Amino acid sequence: MSRRKPPAGAVTKAPDGLPSPLVENWAWQDHAACRDVNPELFFSAESERGLRKHAREVLAKSLCGTCPVRRQCREHALVVGEMYGVWGGTTEEEREPALHGRRR
Ligand code: SF4
Repeated sequence: MSRRKPPAGAVTKAPDGLPSPLVENWAWQDHAACRDVNPELFFSAESERGLRKHAREVLAKSLCGTCPVRRQCREHALVVGEMYGVWGGTTEEEREPALHGRRR
């Protein structure tokens, strides 16, 4: 039985719902603008709220705005259901409606 190669840019999934460990599913991360940035910029501390959280998210999203793989990053977050952090220029609150629709 032959297996067809997925189209370029398609994310193939492993049984657990995560993208399979194929290099092409993760290669976009090599071009990420945040590659050498502290991940704390993208994820809030448990106690972070209000203006502090908003200010961090604005900074993170401004970096995402310069990122050549923003579309792939956002799609990844939606495909795997990333519930936390800024991905592809979107916060968890901004992704929630799309994620909620996919969980049904
Ligand atoms: S879009 Fe933002 S979070 Fe995603 S890889 Fe680029 S800089 Fe990082």
